[in-house]
Amino acid sequence: MDRFMRRAVELAANNVKEGGQPFGAVLVKDGDIFTEGVNELHKHYDISGHAEMLALRRAQQQLKTNDLSGMIMYASGEPCPMCLSAMYFAGIEQIIYCASVEDAYEAGLEKSKIIYEDLQKPKEARSISMKQMPLTNEQEDPMKLWQERR
Ligand SMILES: [Zn+2]
Repeated sequence: MDRFMRRAVELAANNVKEGGQPFGAVLVKDGDIFTEGVNELHKHYDISGHAEMLALRRAQQQLKTNDLSGMIMYASGEPCPMCLSAMYFAGIEQIIYCASVEDAYEAGLEKSKIIYEDLQKPKEARSISMKQMPLTNEQEDPMKLWQERR
């Protein structure tokens, strides 16, 4: 285990001692720790307060960009689908994790494994109902507006 993962795991352990969930993340830029995060769901009513999300958010705010390509995410736990998606959007191409979603499931943190499994099902079979409601003629089409502006 290298120093970045040691730090991510240390953050996770400290977070548990402070009443939080066992997740810490370290975002590495140019071979050094750039930002860190821990799961803050015990502190704020914000479902996006996951360790990786906070590390990403801090990096984007510091650099004033949404593009974090070239950086490496070290996470004490395998990222959930939300954090993984955020990393896709941010251009992260490398993620290193310690505990797997199966490990988290065994520890009683079941959501990530359940969501990953749900996402593999066809839309109609997922636990969240999603229905398309097509645009009607009397409304402006935001997609068309976007295309015309490009
Ligand atoms: Zn997450």
